[in-house]
Amino acid sequence: MNPAELDRIEVITDDITQLSVDAIVNAANESLLGGGGVDGAIHRAAGPRLLEHNRTLGGCPTGLAKIAPAFDLESVGIRHIILTVGPVWHGDQAAEHEKLGDVREDVMLASCYQQSLELAEAHGARSVAFPAISTGVYGFPKQRAAKIAFSHVLGWTRQHEQLERVVFCCFSDEDAKIYRRAIETRGSWMTQRKRI
Ligand code: ADP
Repeated sequence: MNPAELDRIEVITDDITQLSVDAIVNAANESLLGGGGVDGAIHRAAGPRLLEHNRTLGGCPTGLAKIAPAFDLESVGIRHIILTVGPVWHGDQAAEHEKLGDVREDVMLASCYQQSLELAEAHGARSVAFPAISTGVYGFPKQRAAKIAFSHVLGWTRQHEQLERVVFCCFSDEDAKIYRRAIETRGSWMTQRKRI
């Protein structure tokens, strides 16, 4: 793998509502009407107009994404909030280290990244930040989710030039370490992985 391919991908520890990027992704629930975790933080920071707007969207099925204006978050330079609904993990936490594949949750999580990247590009974004979708209350094993997120984003950036910066915004240094490790060891797992 060419190391320059990683130039557009970043791992940071931060609050996603504080980033200066064109679009941030929200790990929402199917109602799109707010919840806890990153969803709650984004709703608080974007203000009540986000909830009003989302009431007009009619929800969003798992694995898909919709887009909203950034409302009060425009003050930090964010233009769009992409709302995606990650899968609830129903499997065993031991699956953390098993091969990625056709597990329904794997496919749904990959779809969240795909749909969000498509929307970001369609709305002219040059930078986008993702939280670790589904790895909070939805219980997706963290390493497994990081591998899916990274491999999907890498695949996208290889084929699309518009996004100059894709940020994995972790909420703890421990989570950021998981992403960095997935990226550093990609040679050992990406070749074995089935395409998802
Ligand atoms: P899900 O329901 O998809 O699991 P959560 O919000 O519970 O969503 O968790 C997803 C991830 O977002 C977790 O890693 C959590 O630590 C992280 N997170 C929570 N608040 C923020 C925030 N303000 N900025 C970035 N990440 C956050």
